[in-house]
Amino acid sequence: MTMHVHVRLIQSLTASEHGELVEFSSCRCGATWLNTYPAEGTGAGADTDADADTE
Ligand SMILES: [Zn+2]
Repeated sequence: MTMHVHVRLIQSLTASEHGELVEFSSCRCGATWLNTYPAEGTGAGADTDADADTE
């Protein structure tokens, strides 16, 4: 087996109905990520560590 380092290529950036930014990215190996970023200016707390890439 060879080591593989995922390369995240952003496929799309959309806004959810709640105003969040939804980022869909994938690696050429087929792995995909879906990240959501809270809408700015909502005062919902500084959750800057929302990069939950546990998959
Ligand atoms: Zn990969």
